[in-house]
Amino acid sequence: MTVISVSRRQVLVGTTVALSSGAFGGLHIRTAHAKAPRAIDQAPCYYRFNHGKMQATIVSDGPLRLGDASAGFLGAPKEEITKMLTDNFLPLTNFMLEQNVLVLNTGDKMVLFDTGMGSSRIFGPSTGKLLSTLEAAGIDPKDIDAVVLTHGHHDHCWGIMADDGSSNFPNAQFYISKADFDFWTDAAKLGMTDPPYMKVTVAGARKHLLPIRDRMVFIKDGQEFLPGIQAMLTPGHTVGHMVFMITSDGKTLAVIGDLTHHQVLLMLKPRLQFVNDTDPKQGADTRVRVLDMLASNRIPLLGYHFPWPGIGHVAKLGEGFQYFPTPMEMLVYQDT
Ligand SMILES: [Zn+2]
Repeated sequence: MTVISVSRRQVLVGTTVALSSGAFGGLHIRTAHAKAPRAIDQAPCYYRFNHGKMQATIVSDGPLRLGDASAGFLGAPKEEITKMLTDNFLPLTNFMLEQNVLVLNTGDKMVLFDTGMGSSRIFGPSTGKLLSTLEAAGIDPKDIDAVVLTHGHHDHCWGIMADDGSSNFPNAQFYISKADFDFWTDAAKLGMTDPPYMKVTVAGARKHLLPIRDRMVFIKDGQEFLPGIQAMLTPGHTVGHMVFMITSDGKTLAVIGDLTHHQVLLMLKPRLQFVNDTDPKQGADTRVRVLDMLASNRIPLLGYHFPWPGIGHVAKLGEGFQYFPTPMEMLVYQDT
């Protein structure tokens, strides 16, 4: 049995170890850890793929850590949530949602979809990585022409402004529904204590959306507001939540934002209600309607909170749906 020892540094810098194809049978590669502390960094979190004549790069803002999964969903007993997670080999108490931010190079414009948590750490220290992952992906925030927001929540618009009061995307035009802009920047809600997240969410939206009001474009249901990018009003999670259909060369990708937060729970049981929806019943109705459309038309989707990098398909399964993640590819193929 052949054993090749590879130093830890070689692995970290991605040094290629030449292996003849015939040597793989029974081959073990051993890394030399010695007494070095265990590393916590992953490779830079970006992932590219072609979409028609456009190029997509997904960059991570880092995962949200939300604790007990069963606390986030209404309409099913805790035991049922526990069983669904257990059956799918998912943890019960360390509920994690990714933040998959899309950068789309349309050939004419660079378009960013949502902006992550910015410098806020209210969901733990693992968020706020967007600017560093953009840099790792070779994308300069100054080159972003358009920032498109699915809705006005923390994890989608709090990356707009830097703490010094400047915009992180100084040359961008911003796009959001007027309904969400008005709802989340409404000063009258600053005094609300129910639901408990309202006050902080509104304060944050005002901090990030009001300073760029003169660069804001309000988008409407059905509008193709940028070439190949069409808005679809999908209310429920928020009053003006938008899904975006991106079409190029006959191919369509749905950027679903927070239409669904979980690749198992809200797929198998799409009528479950998400606790932080402004209208959970409407949110469930919208989820079923749009997922049904995506399944019927075999349209791929990007789930903002799905496991990295969040691209896949949805198919009907019983009274719900099943999510099929698209396999990641190690090369960006030019003929897709
Ligand atoms: Zn979200």
